[in-house]
Amino acid sequence: MRRNRRVKIVATLGPTSTNEETMRRLFEAGADVFRVNMSHATHDGLRKIHAIVRKLESETSRPIGILVDLQGPKLRVGNIDSGAVRLTEGDILSFVRREAIAGSGHVQLPHPEIFEAAKQGDTLLLDDGKLTLRVVEASDVRIDAEVVTGGMLGSRKGISLPDTELPLGALTDKDRADLEYAMSLGVAWIALSFVQRAEDVAEARKLTGGRIAIMAKIEKPAAVHHLKEIIDLADGIMVARGDLGVEMPVEKVPGLQKRISRGARNAGKPVVIATQMLESMIYTPVPTRAEVSDVATAVFEGADAVMLSAESAVGKYPVEAVATMDRVAKEVERDPLYAAIIHAQRIDAQATGADAISAAARTVAETLNLAAIVCYTASGATSLRAARERPQQPILALTPIPATGRRLALVWGLHCVLTDDPFDLDDMVEKACRIAYQEGFATPGEQVIISAGVPLGTPGATNMLRIAPVDDGTEE
Ligand code: PGA
Ligand code: MN
Repeated sequence: MRRNRRVKIVATLGPTSTNEETMRRLFEAGADVFRVNMSHATHDGLRKIHAIVRKLESETSRPIGILVDLQGPKLRVGNIDSGAVRLTEGDILSFVRREAIAGSGHVQLPHPEIFEAAKQGDTLLLDDGKLTLRVVEASDVRIDAEVVTGGMLGSRKGISLPDTELPLGALTDKDRADLEYAMSLGVAWIALSFVQRAEDVAEARKLTGGRIAIMAKIEKPAAVHHLKEIIDLADGIMVARGDLGVEMPVEKVPGLQKRISRGARNAGKPVVIATQMLESMIYTPVPTRAEVSDVATAVFEGADAVMLSAESAVGKYPVEAVATMDRVAKEVERDPLYAAIIHAQRIDAQATGADAISAAARTVAETLNLAAIVCYTASGATSLRAARERPQQPILALTPIPATGRRLALVWGLHCVLTDDPFDLDDMVEKACRIAYQEGFATPGEQVIISAGVPLGTPGATNMLRIAPVDDGTEE
């Protein structure tokens, strides 16, 4: 099974999609990575999702990524018994520290830090900034706020305080427990929410020791400020436009999206464009033209992945949303302007063997119009450098390590196949050609270019290229 597109699709799971049948349909429609939002999921829920994903992997023989998104020091209102309350402009809403009594009209805020720090006149932004309130009175146990912009407030919606300085660290106790659990299952990716500094990523890395790839979500002004250092330390980046557009003026988000995705691409780290991509598909089967254009822009930019949040987690049309992204992505990648736009952003290879080989592989593949680039990779590092080149040819990444395949499921252009390390050069060539043929990337008579490290099986030693013809394997 191969996908005919380079950009990857991340689908967030939630109440409407966390079951085997829907997940199978999401995968078939195009989901490459499933995201689990730990603001809502339990360990038991994650364990079940993990088991279903592994089952789908063995059914389809494709590595499928799981991205466990840690809640981070994100502030949310508590549960609302009736599901939601209507906030009307001019009304006063009371937030309380302890669980609110049903029907009292109070809403719980389970964050003592807010009660410690909020002052009269501070702004409260709720549900990604859809609702605005202003603090009229604050004490240690209760905050009264006037509704400035009203609407429906649902359970566990986010709250942010742009005027208030809050004493918060990078990982909460809950995050640490969730991270441990994700690692114990062998999940491929963890996402850190509300990263502010590179030290936040370093702190996580101390706990992970390379057992899981770390994605830093850029959603705070401080993270934008320290972007380069964060990209350098993280394994991947998410342009988390939801909170980014709350914490900073929304009109700054498109430019930041470009800056962040270029920075990540320059470093050869995967970048995910997230939030509200097909928002209207939560309720309707057809997206707005503006949403289609938004997805297309991310694809034209050469993003590694586009992401669905509520669309696939709680929406009425999760499968249609994935199918829509898939169609938009394929159409953009077929557009005659696509290659030129991607090419215009190409960055120079760094002075390493892996980069020189990756650049050469792309040039040879393009000059000779080869069918595919095949690279042997253990940690995935070599294929990340191959993807950084954004070649016109598909890239097959061959690895003996399942965890590598799952990690690379997020990366632009990589089709990862699990296979044993080749035992000699002939086997290496034969295996690469056979897999390119079997996976539908090359037909007999076409040629592929293979990169590998010799002696075989030496990590980080990519040092050779070989052009080889593909046959149909019948003479064996
Ligand atoms: P969230 O992160 O969905 O966990 O809030 C993404 C974003 O803020 O855009
Ligand atoms: Mn967020």
